Amino acid sequence: MSNTGTVYLVGAGPGDAGLLTLRGAELLRRADVVIYDLLVNPELLRHAGAGCELVSRGKRQDVSQDELNSLMISKAREGKCVVRLKGGDPYVFGRGGEEAEALANAKIDFEVVPGISSIMAATNYAGIPLTHRDHTSNFTVFTGHEGDDKSTSALDFDQIARISGTKVILMGVTHLRELTLALISRGLPAETPVAIVQWGTLGRQKSIVGTLGTIEQLAAKEHITPPALTVIGEVVKLRKKLNWFENRPLFGHRIVVTRSRAQAVEFSHKLTELGADVLEIPCIKRSVPNNLQSLADALLELNSYDWLVFTSPNGVTAFFDFFFKAFKDMRDIGGVRIAAVGPGTAAKLRELHLQVDLMPEEAIGVKIAKEFEKFETVENLKLCLFRAEAANPDLPKALEELGAIVDDIPVYRTVADTEDSLGNVAKLTEAGADWITFTSGSTVEHFHARFDLPALLKKFPQLKLASIGPETSKAIEALGLKPTVEARHHTMEGLVAAVLKMSKNRSS
Ligand code: SAH
Repeated sequence: MSNTGTVYLVGAGPGDAGLLTLRGAELLRRADVVIYDLLVNPELLRHAGAGCELVSRGKRQDVSQDELNSLMISKAREGKCVVRLKGGDPYVFGRGGEEAEALANAKIDFEVVPGISSIMAATNYAGIPLTHRDHTSNFTVFTGHEGDDKSTSALDFDQIARISGTKVILMGVTHLRELTLALISRGLPAETPVAIVQWGTLGRQKSIVGTLGTIEQLAAKEHITPPALTVIGEVVKLRKKLNWFENRPLFGHRIVVTRSRAQAVEFSHKLTELGADVLEIPCIKRSVPNNLQSLADALLELNSYDWLVFTSPNGVTAFFDFFFKAFKDMRDIGGVRIAAVGPGTAAKLRELHLQVDLMPEEAIGVKIAKEFEKFETVENLKLCLFRAEAANPDLPKALEELGAIVDDIPVYRTVADTEDSLGNVAKLTEAGADWITFTSGSTVEHFHARFDLPALLKKFPQLKLASIGPETSKAIEALGLKPTVEARHHTMEGLVAAVLKMSKNRSS
């Protein structure tokens, strides 16, 4: 074997980041270089490792096909594992066959990983099955050749019109008028149902329904632009019954998630499953505290404490990162009691198979102190709080007032995150959103530092603010604003529920 690397032509699926194959994800993790197209959902790049070189093919013409082929070949010859990530399926339009030929000619090893094509995915997500026993048992797919120098003249419309069944047109928006007129003039009834699906399978999916006779005007009115596909045939009518995706409660709502990337995943996932178009713009991230000495000291005398107190999932993660640097064995935590503020913090501890002895529901100092009192008197007991640097001093104060001996140890520090690898900042500042969700006072402060929240609200008056709880709301109020909703339960679920309730009200 030579030292030449392999090129993997990988189908990225139609958009929804969940529709990548397991093989595709595995290769992305292994890749040294990923060359991806404009249509590929940038979220998929998160599968790639930190050192992976990412090459965007940008706008269609900025890297020619020849340059792209040479790039794949030269990277492979450097011994690299190259993933060429292409929208949908690599062998459905989009020149995957030509790229594979170039690799074969250059004697580069390659593999082609199929992807879920927009043909079946975008239609499905618009509630349209391509076949159905009561309507049709075949479908035809062709391209309308948009965006190229080509016209529709290469198509044999006589033949296309003669075939029965569903017809799907890719790249057909620019030449929609020609296409529909050609089919009508070949005898297809002008009343034939037609749907166009734009940005299929993504939160921003938009679909319109008309007939061969009306769809062109409708598409112009609704400003339908690529990427979009057109589906023609009786199966379009099934959409009334089968539109599972667009009927989701948050469909059509664009929701900004501001919490740190590491913590956003689950929250974003919940919102996406409810149909929302989620824009992740993390404004904070966890960093190492400035002063590590007190933590080093606390780790050495863990067994001198009666209670370890965690006030956030972040605190748990940060503490145990340090703990396992110092110790190899969980037993080094000793027989100390553990308190967790809020169910999220408790859940994080349980992931480590640590039971929580005490769980005050709310992060309000006095209330936590009261909970302790119910359990046992904390007088003269040694408590160690593992929290953020510069956290609110109320809690240690309240515990000290009850006679406890308190060490308040910073295990992490919240700093601004200004990265925007998904290009979401421009989407927000140009097109706005329906909601911005805040999950802590610091997400509010750092978001404001980056975007000027009052100015953003002025520019997009439909924008609503969702707060996870009183501390977060206070930070919003400090800017002279009011949260549109505050979660009743101060958890992610509570926040989702608050947004959901309000969104339903507004749309009905
Ligand atoms: N290989 C791709 C198709 C590439 S050609 C596949 O298998 O899906 C690009 C065309 O595909 C677009 O112009 C559009 O017609 C269609 N397309 C791709 N992604 C789409 C999406 N998410 N929604 C609707 N149409 C899409």
